[in-house]
Amino acid sequence: MKSKLPHIGTTIFTVMTNRAREMGAINLAQGFPDFDVPGKLKDLVAYHVAAGRNQYAPMIGVPELREQIALKLMASYGQMPDAESEITITLGATEGIFSAILALVHPGDEVILFDPSYDSYAPAVILAGGTPVHVPLEPPRFKIDWQAVKELLSDKTGLIVINTPHNPIATVLSDSDLSALAECLRSSRAMVLSDEVYEHMVFDGAKHAGILTHPELAQRGVAVFSFGKTMHATGWRVGYTVAPPEITREIRRVHQFNTFSIAAPLQYAIADFLKQVPEHNATLTQFYQQKRDLFLSRLRESRFSWIPSSGSYFQLLDFTAISDESDIEFADRILTEAKVASIPVSPFYRLPPKLGVVRFCFAKNDSTLEEAAERLCAL
Ligand code: GLN
Repeated sequence: MKSKLPHIGTTIFTVMTNRAREMGAINLAQGFPDFDVPGKLKDLVAYHVAAGRNQYAPMIGVPELREQIALKLMASYGQMPDAESEITITLGATEGIFSAILALVHPGDEVILFDPSYDSYAPAVILAGGTPVHVPLEPPRFKIDWQAVKELLSDKTGLIVINTPHNPIATVLSDSDLSALAECLRSSRAMVLSDEVYEHMVFDGAKHAGILTHPELAQRGVAVFSFGKTMHATGWRVGYTVAPPEITREIRRVHQFNTFSIAAPLQYAIADFLKQVPEHNATLTQFYQQKRDLFLSRLRESRFSWIPSSGSYFQLLDFTAISDESDIEFADRILTEAKVASIPVSPFYRLPPKLGVVRFCFAKNDSTLEEAAERLCAL
């Protein structure tokens, strides 16, 4: 059979999580918490299931949740999107990204992706009939050269995908990056897709610079968010897109035949939780910064080096003082020898440079991080 995605294997997250399970290893690979969702939120889900909210939710998401999201975005970014025409609840951010790409990319369009790029972007572009244009970012800082981006843009460019805080490299964009992007786009027809699922994990006093803080970019793009990340509930698969009405209309045309609608009791529960615990999101930065700092402090005696994560719940560790293996070989070796699973970064490049870093997830109980760090110190 002729494959539509001949170069795409099983996602590295599934591969590494399966291997971690087989090896009985500590799984710092796939990004998910090993602690539970807030108790109140679990009670709210049970309540809404018992109350019979078990039939199809509205296709665009339950109004109570979209209204709470609009208020949350107002509190975070000082702009209040219209809950009816600009916010759509999706099956996790992954569906939001997929539906947005399918809706916005036309056959023949070029789509600019900055590598390392999250592994769902390029396959979605290909399925939409577009052509990914991979712009490789160089370690260790992975900075975007906006002048080079400007030179790449042509009338073929339909979309630029940005991701801040960035997965897998844990960098963040600044206001000046957003201004440079806006400047690049002024003479172009390209739209922006901004993956901001780690919006509430931005460290060391920095502020999240998402497109909703930038009126010009907000007008020509879609931002994607995730309750999996903010509610510690990656298994619930609830995310959302925010885009101007004419873009939202197109996203919904795809979304309605992709997932149709998202689990109703989960949406009601999250809406109630946002209303009852409005301070929840604001606690996440400190919560995760403390975990990053604990993990790194426990690695002080190790042979790894690092630039502290600027955002997300991931930390890259540089292993070049330990080994000159490739990142894939090194991730494999620490899985077997130290029984700690990590994620290599080269699978996120079309043409990977030599990479001496692997990614670790610190969305874990302190005891898990301490145990993992102790094992890593032995390398
Ligand atoms: N976003 C998660 C990560 O980066 C993985 C999600 C998935 O496996 N689809 O680890």
